[in-house]
Amino acid sequence: MKKHFFKSKEEVLREFSVTLNGLSKEQVENSKKLYGVNELQEQEKEKAWAIFLSQFKDFLVIILIIAGIISMLTGNIESTIVIFAVIIMNAILGTVQHLKAESSLESLRNMASPKAKVMRDGQKIEIHSKDIVEGDIVYLEAGDIVPADGRVIESFSLMVNESSLTGESESVDKYSEIISEENIPLGDQKNMVFSGSLVTYGRGVIVITAVGMKTELGKIASLIKDTKEKATPLQVSLDNFGKKLSISILILCGVVFVINFYHGVNLLDSILFAVALAVAAIPEALGSIVTIVLAIGTQKMSKENAIIKKLKAVEGLGSVSVICSDKTGTLTQNKMTSKKIYVNEKIINVEDIDLNDNYQKMLLNFGALCSDASSEGGKEIGDPTEVALTNLVRKFNISELELRKEYPRLSEIPFDSDRKLMSTLHKIDEKIYMVTKGALDILLKRVKYIYDSEGIREITEEDIKRIEEVNYEFSNNGLRVLAFTFKNLSKEKALIKEDENDYVFLGLISMIDPPREESKEAVTNCLRAGIKPVMITGDHKVTAVAIAKEIGIFKDGDKALNGIELSAMSDEELHDVIENVSVYARVSPEDKIRIVSAWQSRGKICAMTGDGVNDAPALKKADIGIAMGITGTEVSKDAASMILTDDNFATIIKAVATGRNIYSNIKNSIRFLLSGNMGGILSVFYASLVGLPMPFAPVHLLFINLVTDSLPAIAIGMESGKDDVLEEKPRDINQPILDKNLSLKIMLEGLLIAVFTMIGYYLGFKNGGAKVGSTMAFAILCLGRLFHGFNCRGKNSMLKLGLFSNKYSVLAFLVGTFLLNVILFNQSVGSLFEVAKLTTSQILYIYVLAFIPTIVVQVCRFIKYDLKEK
Ligand code: ATP
Repeated sequence: MKKHFFKSKEEVLREFSVTLNGLSKEQVENSKKLYGVNELQEQEKEKAWAIFLSQFKDFLVIILIIAGIISMLTGNIESTIVIFAVIIMNAILGTVQHLKAESSLESLRNMASPKAKVMRDGQKIEIHSKDIVEGDIVYLEAGDIVPADGRVIESFSLMVNESSLTGESESVDKYSEIISEENIPLGDQKNMVFSGSLVTYGRGVIVITAVGMKTELGKIASLIKDTKEKATPLQVSLDNFGKKLSISILILCGVVFVINFYHGVNLLDSILFAVALAVAAIPEALGSIVTIVLAIGTQKMSKENAIIKKLKAVEGLGSVSVICSDKTGTLTQNKMTSKKIYVNEKIINVEDIDLNDNYQKMLLNFGALCSDASSEGGKEIGDPTEVALTNLVRKFNISELELRKEYPRLSEIPFDSDRKLMSTLHKIDEKIYMVTKGALDILLKRVKYIYDSEGIREITEEDIKRIEEVNYEFSNNGLRVLAFTFKNLSKEKALIKEDENDYVFLGLISMIDPPREESKEAVTNCLRAGIKPVMITGDHKVTAVAIAKEIGIFKDGDKALNGIELSAMSDEELHDVIENVSVYARVSPEDKIRIVSAWQSRGKICAMTGDGVNDAPALKKADIGIAMGITGTEVSKDAASMILTDDNFATIIKAVATGRNIYSNIKNSIRFLLSGNMGGILSVFYASLVGLPMPFAPVHLLFINLVTDSLPAIAIGMESGKDDVLEEKPRDINQPILDKNLSLKIMLEGLLIAVFTMIGYYLGFKNGGAKVGSTMAFAILCLGRLFHGFNCRGKNSMLKLGLFSNKYSVLAFLVGTFLLNVILFNQSVGSLFEVAKLTTSQILYIYVLAFIPTIVVQVCRFIKYDLKEK
């Protein structure tokens, strides 16, 4: 069969029985059945049973299994049952946590999956790229990711970067003509585009020739990097910490084993005890708790319009100290409305425009012709700057669509944010006009003539001065200004960038883009949280500063730089002034990388927003790259670590608050796990040292590990956000999560629990012997840790936090207490857990002694925080 590049476009369309109107619904279904969907086969997902089995790979679990087998062989049926029950319960809990975290990450991935614009049944619609089928007519424009392989049908300066396939880093031109050679490499197939390449310039229409695994990308899919999420820095550092801690605990268990054995306990019991102690003391849940808290947190963020693509962004968010944000659409509404025009030396309010005036009519008509937007029937489609222009002609009952029919576009050079210009070519009254609109400062350098009441004449210094004054006046009121120029060509031609010169200046159209209502408050919150907001925009400096002042980003003494000033600075100079610069204007996407680097060179964690095709490198370079969900290109979304589904600056601040809360929840969970474990270790260690019988039976420790470890820890991780997180300064990213302060608290709280556990032990020991003593110690440690779960919910006392404000925490407590009571009160279960029958007063002692550490902690909290905050 002939290759697609070797066929004419008509032949390819015929092959798929499709026209430019796209496939019909039926054809789509058929194509799906015949050729499959547009998905690369990902690596097989881990099955639930495999995850369940993998829980048994843990070193401690293996030792526990061996201990279980030994105790079975020695006829110790009770402990055998308990050990295996604990192992299985642990594995189930681990599996459930793993699956839950996976599924929330997967749903996030789906939310962030790329989209494509297709023509189907004569209508242009946006669909998920995975729903594309062979024969689909797909529209491409700068910033898109090519969704599947396709033959180019139409190209308007279409350029594509295929480096992921060919290794060629320069973008290549694409055209629709047939290629007459049959055996050529991918890189030379200039009328084909391939899945995964980036559209860097222009626009085009393609017909899809291969999807999914049949695409060129699919053929090398096995080479594609594993998309699995890597462990976040926090997970890595906790893993390392966990390993070190485990080793110390194992050594300690060794010591306890020797002491026990020395005191005459038999070998098997000594081993069993040491193993149980290791299981209870090593916080195995640490890693999975972090994952689950991160996963729950990201779900919450997605409800608040921030989709997290990389888990490590959640941690990073808590440390962000600079947010560099685009202006248009993120801080402002991106709803442009024309306000004033300037033409033939007159400033005219939009309401006073008179279309009998030739100059004014020409300016408005050029606005409609040199743009791709439309506002038919009030439905606005396209770039808001251009919608302002089409709305403007509609105001005077002129249809931009009719105008474009009358004076069709013969050629064009699309707008891009580097050039800040757009040109189109039209035949008007038998003359060929090249119309260019764009940023005044860029266009003015290319102007030679001016069109005013004297006709077309050479532009003078004075004219330029006057135009600049008007531009300043408009910009100073926060208006965006578009300049319009034109020139006549002798004949029709395909426009190239070199044609954008020797213009006749026609006039200016200014438009307002009001700040978003929530921007001001979000900026205030941002400053309150110790984060510097910075505005980066392609707009004019004066416009940018006016808006930045209005929303509070630009303060007295701040600096604003434009692209030219920025380029004149060395990296060192930028490094020195950067803290004072709050507005960057007329910058190109490449400048954003320098800005991020300069902030990073000052040790700051920098978030950067972006939407355009050229923003991707800056988004990757930033610590947190943020793409726009509505207006952002697929390329920018691909590069970002977070996507704002509402394009709103205020959402970033909300995400920062949630990020900080997640971090503090993780910290609290760790505190809970470690301090409780510490309580157990210290009790055992004390008993060993003073030569008392062991305060716990191995089954006690296993029960504590199961009931009082995971459930309250997860509940603490679910704690809802506190408003005051925005009062704190950003967290230093280099500071370990377990800093001195936290370690000290863990020690003290562990000690407190241990002291009261041992008091209970002595009391029981004195009145009823070793078994009663050990039962009391076990119950106090268990209950004390359950109570302690409430302490770890936040820094304030329960009076301020509210006992029931975290229902999961209450639930975890109730479940734990219920199970403990079943053991204490039910004889047959009790005998399984080696507990003695207790008197009512002994039970009362248990509750009181277990509660005291929590009272002590709560009183301290009340004095230290609540009173101060009142
Ligand atoms: P921000 O970075 O804040 O989002 P922006 O994206 O609005 O800014 P650009 O779209 O790069 O910035 O616009 C920069 C300048 O280019 C504008 O000030 C305007 O003068 C000009 N411009 C914007 N849109 C067009 C367009 N469609 N055609 C021609 N010129 C345009």
